[in-house]
Amino acid sequence: MINYKSRDEIKRMRHAGHIVALVHKKMKEVIEPGISTRELDSIAEKIIRENRAVPTFLGYNGFPGCICTSINEQVVHGIPSENIILKEGDIISVDVGATYGGMVGDSAWTHPVGKISGDVAKLMKVTEEALFAGISKMRAGNILDDISGAIEDVANREKYGIVRQYGGHGVGHQMHEDPFLFNYRVGDKLPLKKNMVIAIEPMLNLGGDEVVVASDEWTVSTKDGKPSAHFEHTVLCTEDEPMIMTQLME
Ligand code: MG
Ligand code: MG
Repeated sequence: MINYKSRDEIKRMRHAGHIVALVHKKMKEVIEPGISTRELDSIAEKIIRENRAVPTFLGYNGFPGCICTSINEQVVHGIPSENIILKEGDIISVDVGATYGGMVGDSAWTHPVGKISGDVAKLMKVTEEALFAGISKMRAGNILDDISGAIEDVANREKYGIVRQYGGHGVGHQMHEDPFLFNYRVGDKLPLKKNMVIAIEPMLNLGGDEVVVASDEWTVSTKDGKPSAHFEHTVLCTEDEPMIMTQLME
């Protein structure tokens, strides 16, 4: 069932999204060689709670962190740890969820740690481009597959792998609501309508599509060990331009 959001729900989601964006802004400042992913988690938790929100991920199906921190070949759902220290040349995807007034904002960003190689920098740039290509299709009158196709076309252009088992999703009262959004065409003709909110989140790999889940039952990595990038925004469908909810409010 699709939950269309009321004016008041949209207002609270926008606030949740602002808090998520505050966390990402801080992450950009503090990510550098030598910091542990547990420290990043603590910084994120502090910002979320100071803004009277709740870290959505903490305890979600038992997840032990406030953010997901996925490094290099890790795609999503990496668990923050004091033993995981960022190194020069790594990339790290930070996925953040905040619940404010009962409504969720969900956004992920991949950051470089110091200086990174050219092919990995390009992977990041193209994955971000795929996100915005998807967002541009979040318009009333389009169908869900238009978003999937826009992401797929960008990935195919560069011959990047597309993660098949994970994708975007409706978001609102819950982090994961209907519909599920594939990052490649599946022929889903669901009409996009005003007041739908979807978290659009391409995960692209420098190598093949395939991923494996680690023995911690959370961390998803590429099977071939090649790097993966992940960018996500929570996006509202309006009568006009799509509205990115997980950005800073002026
Ligand atoms: Mg997310
Ligand atoms: Mg998400």
